[in-house]
Amino acid sequence: MKTRKVYTDFLIIGSGIAGLFYALKVAHKGKVLIVTKDKKDETNTRYAQGGIAAVWDMTHDSIEKHIQDTIVAGSGVNDENIVRMVVSEGPQRVKELIDLGAQFDKIDNEHYDLAREGGHTEKRILHHKDITGWEIERTLLEAVAKHPNIQILEHHFTIDIITQHHLGEIVTSQRTDIECYGAYVLNKKTNEILTILSKVTVIATGGIGQTYAVTTNPAIATGDGIAMFYRAKGLVKDMEFVQFHPTALYEGKSNTQSFLITEAIRGFGAILRNQKGEAFMEKYDERKELAPRDIVARAIDNELKISGDDFVYLDCRHLDRKEFINHFPNIYNKCMSIGIDPFVDMIPVAPAMHYLCGGIQVDKNGQSSIRRVYAIGECACTGLHGANRLASNSLLEALVFAHNAAVDSISKFEHHTIPENIPDWNAEGTTQPEEMILITQARKELQQTMSSYVGIVRSNVRLKRAWDRLELLYQENEALYEKTTINQAICELRNMICIGYLITKHAMRRKKSIGLHYVVG
Ligand SMILES: Cc1cc2nc3c(=O)[nH]c(=O)nc-3n(C[C@H](O)[C@H](O)[C@H](O)COP(=O)(O)OP(=O)(O)OC[C@H]3O[C@@H](n4cnc5c(N)ncnc54)[C@H](O)[C@@H]3O)c2cc1C
Repeated sequence: MKTRKVYTDFLIIGSGIAGLFYALKVAHKGKVLIVTKDKKDETNTRYAQGGIAAVWDMTHDSIEKHIQDTIVAGSGVNDENIVRMVVSEGPQRVKELIDLGAQFDKIDNEHYDLAREGGHTEKRILHHKDITGWEIERTLLEAVAKHPNIQILEHHFTIDIITQHHLGEIVTSQRTDIECYGAYVLNKKTNEILTILSKVTVIATGGIGQTYAVTTNPAIATGDGIAMFYRAKGLVKDMEFVQFHPTALYEGKSNTQSFLITEAIRGFGAILRNQKGEAFMEKYDERKELAPRDIVARAIDNELKISGDDFVYLDCRHLDRKEFINHFPNIYNKCMSIGIDPFVDMIPVAPAMHYLCGGIQVDKNGQSSIRRVYAIGECACTGLHGANRLASNSLLEALVFAHNAAVDSISKFEHHTIPENIPDWNAEGTTQPEEMILITQARKELQQTMSSYVGIVRSNVRLKRAWDRLELLYQENEALYEKTTINQAICELRNMICIGYLITKHAMRRKKSIGLHYVVG
């Protein structure tokens, strides 16, 4: 395989909200290189529907109320200082996004059309129709394209970050002086492996949804950043807190990505009904459809277990058609495209893996346990979400931490030097995989294992079963990895097995139910 060295000041892995916002903030100080494994806009960010939470209308809302809502949703496992910081700094960061050109819906020239979602006691969600993430991604990519210091390499897959380990030193998790010099990155089109050497490395690789059989996340969400960081002996945290979105569209086939029906629709008045037509949320929580999403997801899971059905319904038939289409054109069009008219038919929905609250452990600046590595966005565990993320807080978290990481790294990066003896990738002794089935089948097994045994409701028996299956998958895949020429499929599988292992390990450690981690013995 061909190899080549590339030098940059700031290496950013990922082109979602976190990576792009960070890039814009540091670009006036040095050379920025963003690598992204697919097209630049293929990110979790692009699919965000509901919006971004920020205290905007001080007549009804307050910073304290948003803080309280975040902590209540997180079952108090949140880091209160971080919650306070994100909620307080959030409106300023959102304003910067607006100044860059992001358009959020308004009711008149001055006032935003603020929505309310599950777990929020006030209307505070800024949104662009029901395609808020698309609008944010568009805005940021346009701004990045105009900046002469920022280069994006699309279809470039990051394999591993580079540390002292690659200089032949023994690196264990006990070491507190691990530092990073960049990353090995595969150009998927040419098969060349770049040794990208950087003063600062930012992991902004997003979510892990593909580790489960049903997910709202796109195919890129394979937890690569968390896995490569863990392999480099960095600290990760709270991996057991996996959020399932209660209402993904049920289409009766196994999808790689399920279409999300935003909970803003429940805020708008839609009602959940079982297949007998009975509204059931009252049995589970007095907030009914507006309860936090873990409660709603478990309620649906329970209804499905009792009835043996594959889905429940979201009933929108009583809602105002014109207003609905105005607010949720994307969802309306999707439903109509598969023959469901939301004003005639109820929408079939089921829970799907949606968001990871845990991840790479970071401080208030996004600094990880490995020097020169910042982790921002969904791959990071900041302490904001605690045991459960409040709806629409993740885009906000990504903005606030991208900003803080930028400020911190700008103050330090010029002091960082890069050793001269960093080797290029060594592909000696490896060959192209002869049977892709070994990889594709193992991926399915992993996803089924995680969905069946480490899903919404967990038990010791299920977790142990997952552990044993994962051990086998790990052994088989490591043996294959050792002799296979690097390719995206085997690396993603390796990363997803690592993520499955971390979630299961952390879930086994936490004996009592809290937030998203729900155990039944
Ligand atoms: C359907 C859906 C709806 C959502 N709705 C909302 C909402 O309304 N409000 C809200 O706050 N949050 C929402 N979320 C969550 C939110 O969108 C994400 O948490 C957030 O966008 C993550 O941003 P990010 O920058 O961390 O990662 P992403 O936007 O996922 O970007 C990750 C980037 O990393 C790249 N990458 C990954 N691995 C590698 C690798 N090995 N090499 C190179 N590049 C790599 C990817 O290609 C991608 O560019 C939603 C999520 C989904 C899936």
